[in-house]
Amino acid sequence: GEEVPLCPRCSLPVGEFAYQGREGKQACVHTECMAQVLTQDAQREEDARIRRENIKKEKNRREYDIGWRVESVPKSAPLAERMGCSPAPQGLCCLVLDDASRTVKVAATSEPSAAVNLEYLLLALKVRKTASREPLFSLDPVDPQNLEKTPQKKVYEPSWLAGTSVGDVMFQADYFLKELALGEYDMPVVGMLSVFDWSEMKDKDKSWAGREWFVVKKAEIRMSEDNALIPHVKMGVEAREQVVTKKGLEDAPVTLPHHPLKKFADAFTRNFDLIAERKSVVFHLRELAKASIMAKYLIDSKARLDPTWYKLADEIVKSTEPEPYPQIPQLWNMRGNSRIKLKEGRLVDMVTGGQSNLQAIYGGVEFGLDRFELAQRHALQGQKPSVPGVQLAQSGRPMFMPQRFQLGQRPEMPQGVDLNLDKFSLSTEERFAGRLPPCSGDADSLEGRTLLGKAFLQSLQQKSFAGVKAEDQSLLLNVYGVPQCDRAEEGDAFIPPDPNLEYITKVRNLVGEEKTLRERRKQRFSDKTFAVTNPGLDFPRSWTPRFQVEMEGRVSHTAPTKFGLKKLEVDEAFQRGLLENVLPSAAPEFNQVTEDGIVFRIYKIGSLEVRTTQEVDGPEAIVVVFSSGAAAWEAKAVESEDALGRERLVKCKVYVEAMEQESQPHLAKDARTGCNFYIVLETEKKNRIVTEALSAGSLSWVQNPHSLEDRNSLAKLLFTVDCKEGVYARDVQQLQRTL
Ligand SMILES: [Zn+2]
Repeated sequence: GEEVPLCPRCSLPVGEFAYQGREGKQACVHTECMAQVLTQDAQREEDARIRRENIKKEKNRREYDIGWRVESVPKSAPLAERMGCSPAPQGLCCLVLDDASRTVKVAATSEPSAAVNLEYLLLALKVRKTASREPLFSLDPVDPQNLEKTPQKKVYEPSWLAGTSVGDVMFQADYFLKELALGEYDMPVVGMLSVFDWSEMKDKDKSWAGREWFVVKKAEIRMSEDNALIPHVKMGVEAREQVVTKKGLEDAPVTLPHHPLKKFADAFTRNFDLIAERKSVVFHLRELAKASIMAKYLIDSKARLDPTWYKLADEIVKSTEPEPYPQIPQLWNMRGNSRIKLKEGRLVDMVTGGQSNLQAIYGGVEFGLDRFELAQRHALQGQKPSVPGVQLAQSGRPMFMPQRFQLGQRPEMPQGVDLNLDKFSLSTEERFAGRLPPCSGDADSLEGRTLLGKAFLQSLQQKSFAGVKAEDQSLLLNVYGVPQCDRAEEGDAFIPPDPNLEYITKVRNLVGEEKTLRERRKQRFSDKTFAVTNPGLDFPRSWTPRFQVEMEGRVSHTAPTKFGLKKLEVDEAFQRGLLENVLPSAAPEFNQVTEDGIVFRIYKIGSLEVRTTQEVDGPEAIVVVFSSGAAAWEAKAVESEDALGRERLVKCKVYVEAMEQESQPHLAKDARTGCNFYIVLETEKKNRIVTEALSAGSLSWVQNPHSLEDRNSLAKLLFTVDCKEGVYARDVQQLQRTL
């Protein structure tokens, strides 16, 4: 008969209506195939736009000195000597209080929680002394009337902090927070979402301006048995929305629980300590907070400080180069998204949008220590610890601090103390049932000679911490040995984690939550309902395609071979064969990486679907193998007439689908095109009947098959015919019998 044109995209015949393809004037392309073309175009354009913007952002970062560098952390040793601790300790420094004379001296320590960065401390003391406050930083729009275009200016309180090490860590930490909020980086904690992600899922079209602030949630000074002062801090991130008032833009705390800014801030706060252990810039911001708490305590408690300390601070500020870039360009991010709508076999709409209403995230660092009464320190008094504190000297092990990991639960630090601390008023003296063991020493002591960081990072690299319990080793590896962690760059200056039980318990719980999610992801991925077009909330948001095709008001969430997937039990030899001979030369259809570097892949090999995962430094491993079999519903001929037969027919649709010979042997095969036609009849009561030719020569008659949408989403609609008045389902059935 007549020559039927084939679609150049899928090689199936084209029906009554087609679009002109890119292949030339003669090319007729299915509506469904055209939608795919447009989606791919949009995705390509978006990718190109993102590449262009990343180049621009990279250029900005270089030009304006944006980005944390470990070298900008000031070294304590040279200052220690000038502050009266000679010879200078090679490792960490702490402050020791002499109760009788109310004087404070610098000493060596191997206790990370007691460690203070001396330059941060001197500058914080100067801020406290001269301005009665603590350092503050904020990044403000230069022109608040033009939030979208205006550059941002760095605001320091007091202003002489500009260009100092304290100013730098506040600016870099704030910028990092902003970039993270805008989804510029992979999240530091598995499962965390950016402000952008939250906004995309909730109020996509709402526009707002807001700030994320680093804040101190709790501050106190504790003391060890040998009078070393231990600054204790809890930090968090707070969301504040910028609202337009008569006085201009003002900050108001975000209270709506589902506001994207608040969602992000809450998650950051919950995970703060884990993020600080993994991200060098956040860690050092917390070190600055510790130094600021110490400064406030020293001044409020009227400790007698050596006047040379203030002179040293003046010297540091005087020798500071002026801030080279007081203004920086606006940080922006945009994500394109579009949904192409198909209805009745026509492209009806293409909704595209760039989500750009989040450009205005400002923020800053505000410790707000004045809320805390620090003069009355929290003395840790009570019984003698039953386990001696830090007996470092005898053992020949690498001397990084978490010696106490192996001691397990320290009886002198009761668990749960931490939970109540938030409610403590700092003006009353709290007494703990325990007391921190001695932790200071002079430069010749082990504390003075130990380079904790070096030994710790060496152990981390070898993935083995000598003398540490297996569960603690795995904890350390899960905190620091993951791709999200940049602390290893700190080298010799690395400060190991605070080994106190309350802190380690908190970090351990957060790492445990990550593990649970990791397991849930694997489980989800091995299920046949896992859809690459909609991986779901457990996976990074970036896995969900932003360009989608919507058919008849429904976004197809099914992957092409999902239709009738059957799980195959495969033995080890088969798996080995796949891994060694087949997969290395196959291109995965799906290939995505999580924040923690685990790669998830799906391969289609003939009628097999193989899903694998691969951990960092690990081999690829098969998670599950499916075979894509016949249609989920068996087409069978129905003999008897029933109620449906009395329903009037409204529409008749003809579909064509590609056919795999082996997989659907019961259907008649069109020898010429390798495809199968089927007809969907719609009745006035929205019932649907599918009929098609079977290989045996008979015709099938199936009512309301449950996976019809899935089948249609993979097929091409060729014709739609409105039925004449007075045609009933049974008429068609009778006609079929006569064929
Ligand atoms: Zn096509």
